Amino acid sequence: MNGATVLLLIIVGAALFYATRLMQRRRRRAALMQTPLDERHRAIITRRIPLYQKVPLYLRGRLDGLINRFLDEIQFVGRDGFEVSEDARVVIAAQACLLIMGQSHRWFPTLKSVILYPAAFKSKAKKFDGYIQHDGTPVHTGESWMRGPVVLAWDHAAFGALVDDDGRNLVLHEFAHQLDEATGVADGAPLLGEDQNAAGWGRVFQESYDRLRRDVETGRPTVFDAYGASAPAEFFAVAVETFFEKPRDMHAEEPQVYKEMTHYFGFDPAKW
Ligand SMILES: [Zn+2]
Repeated sequence: MNGATVLLLIIVGAALFYATRLMQRRRRRAALMQTPLDERHRAIITRRIPLYQKVPLYLRGRLDGLINRFLDEIQFVGRDGFEVSEDARVVIAAQACLLIMGQSHRWFPTLKSVILYPAAFKSKAKKFDGYIQHDGTPVHTGESWMRGPVVLAWDHAAFGALVDDDGRNLVLHEFAHQLDEATGVADGAPLLGEDQNAAGWGRVFQESYDRLRRDVETGRPTVFDAYGASAPAEFFAVAVETFFEKPRDMHAEEPQVYKEMTHYFGFDPAKW
């Protein structure tokens, strides 16, 4: 065998190896999507995520499959002494998958891991999802890194899951950032399906964002948390929390944004 033949054999061998791995991964994913939720996982979700019970049956099968896939593919890492429990993994996975259960192609394409702190944490990240302590120190409850992990304070993530009608949900908020950031820009415009008009989305969201900024300035209460007025990316993340937790109020107050979101997510929580 000459050098060219050896090189060709190496290339063909490598291509076969990667093709086989890709096929195995696809098969594994397809099997996970068809597998019913583990009964222990279902018990955790029933106890900790009341929103799950409201999800209509026609979406449940896909949601359960996505939770299986998330638990299989996404790594969980504890920080500051936090030992990642089964409860924590399932509570994060189930809420994240609520965001993607309505569209068959949707996933968190750049996400590899979730980092969990026991409670609010100090961070060097510039993007700030948290609050200012009484001593003036900013502490984070969550972060979403572009092409990187989602970072969460477990106590806030668990509380957000348990109270599903206050319009605040840390996990939905941070994973909404992941969907937005998957385009490579955190600007409040996620990757839309082919049948949704990006210009229409942009106009509706810009008008609503401007309206929220004016309302926050004048002190007029709105369905959206005032934090949404801090940047277009935050407006999208806050609108996602509101969409799931106050759908009927949002539909009444911001019907156009609500309509764009039902199209984007592929379901209508106001009907649940
Ligand atoms: Zn945020």
